[in-house]
Amino acid sequence: MDCIFCKIAAKQIPSAIVYENEDVIAFRDINPQAPVHIIIIPKQHIATLNDIKPEDAQLVGKIVLAAQAIAKDNNLQNPGYRLVLNCNKDAGQTVFHIHCHLLGGRLMGWPPG
Ligand code: AMP
Ligand code: ZN
Repeated sequence: MDCIFCKIAAKQIPSAIVYENEDVIAFRDINPQAPVHIIIIPKQHIATLNDIKPEDAQLVGKIVLAAQAIAKDNNLQNPGYRLVLNCNKDAGQTVFHIHCHLLGGRLMGWPPG
């Protein structure tokens, strides 16, 4: 499958990996929007949030737990951080393999753009 995040998960293309377990891998965003900007993905290909099924619930939970661990590694627990999941055009999704952005290291604005 021609999916850049599947290729990163399979280590067919390089990335700055910061976390990995059996189900999930996380790497630095190539175009960071904050001092810490990490992309967390399931190794399994799921195109958009619309495609998540009830049986994927544990996998989605593992993404959030990975984010929590990465936030701790980066001392972001107390200053705080933001998780973002974009779905389709209006949210600006550009890579069609679900991913969670972990953003931190600066004050975040609200509402988001
Ligand atoms: P989204 O707009 O939510 O689909 O976000 C996709 C994110 O993936 C963007 O922030 C990109 O900078 C990032 N990205 C795309 N290709 C790569 C890559 N090869 N390595 C790391 N991050 C990437
Ligand atoms: Zn994929």
